[in-house]
Amino acid sequence: MSPDLYAALARTRGAIRTTKRGDLFRRAAHGVVADWGELYNFDCPFCGDSKKRAWVSYMYGQPDPRTGRPMYELVGCWNEDCFASRRNRDGFAVSLMGLYVRGLEIPVFGPPDESGGRDGRRTTFAMPGWCRPVAELHAGHEARRYLEGRGYDPDVVGPRFGLSYCLQADHDLSIAEGRLIIPVRRGGELVGWQARRLDGRKRLKYFTCPGMATGRTLYNQDLALAGPVVVLVEGVVDVWSVGPAGAALFGHTLSDAKRDLILGAAPARPWVVVLLDAGEKGADPGAIARALEPGFPGRVVVASIPLEAPPGDLRRPLGPGEKPDPGSLTTGAVWRCIRAAGAAAGGGFLAAVEAARPREEGDQ
Ligand SMILES: [Zn+2]
Repeated sequence: MSPDLYAALARTRGAIRTTKRGDLFRRAAHGVVADWGELYNFDCPFCGDSKKRAWVSYMYGQPDPRTGRPMYELVGCWNEDCFASRRNRDGFAVSLMGLYVRGLEIPVFGPPDESGGRDGRRTTFAMPGWCRPVAELHAGHEARRYLEGRGYDPDVVGPRFGLSYCLQADHDLSIAEGRLIIPVRRGGELVGWQARRLDGRKRLKYFTCPGMATGRTLYNQDLALAGPVVVLVEGVVDVWSVGPAGAALFGHTLSDAKRDLILGAAPARPWVVVLLDAGEKGADPGAIARALEPGFPGRVVVASIPLEAPPGDLRRPLGPGEKPDPGSLTTGAVWRCIRAAGAAAGGGFLAAVEAARPREEGDQ
């Protein structure tokens, strides 16, 4: 009796069974629901049920005849009382109806596109849940404190890289809740995200969005590939340190797909700088440079950061035995390493570096 609701359920929850077919929703005179009417049953997402014991009324989400408010409470689970909590009801409503966070242009976790690309990968992505940009969080919020603790100004790196905090995640992605969400975009489109733990624990410090093609994706590629210098680093935090010119490989190797992405920027003729972590086992920046050289003849520079950095070059104190990476250095120090490595490349490189380095931290 509610084909749109049925279709949304089938799309997000799989096989649906209809019970009490044709029955009408009815309230008793004092307002209590006397009959839920026709029901659509599905496997409950909260209790691991596989006998379709969760149900919604066909009137779910329709305006209440008395108050006009959408009836998101017409849902339940016969196994356990899984929808008794407001949080579960809201989470379910958002996943089902594809609601949007008010005031944000971010689709939260609407129905995923299950069609997949030509090679079966997901082609559209959503944020993991209700998210708020870090620049809109109150001073002292744990996400802001995390960034400040690493030496970043949340009001600079937040808007620049679209960083946000996940207030409430989709039940399938509950691991993202309470984490810093680092969106990954290509051509402006969200192609995935990473969720960084903020509670100091080490297990799954970074959780990567299921389905994200890290082998074919660079972090911050839109900004980086548009500039006169592309600085290839390993991780997302390194990019925040470099600034808009930074692009992360999600590791220290260059896949063919990533090489092709960067070569695709060749008509714009940027300079390419390879800047991996200091003293990384198995890393071969020279091999990355050689793979890129044909597309950027004479324009690839390998830079390195010192194993021992002067304290004034560090954004934060290093842990015992920790080696500096670009993310632990100040932006000024990172760009001094880049400039030093490219001295032999000549004036064209130095001019491009001057144009590409960010100014907000000064540069001694
Ligand atoms: Zn349940």
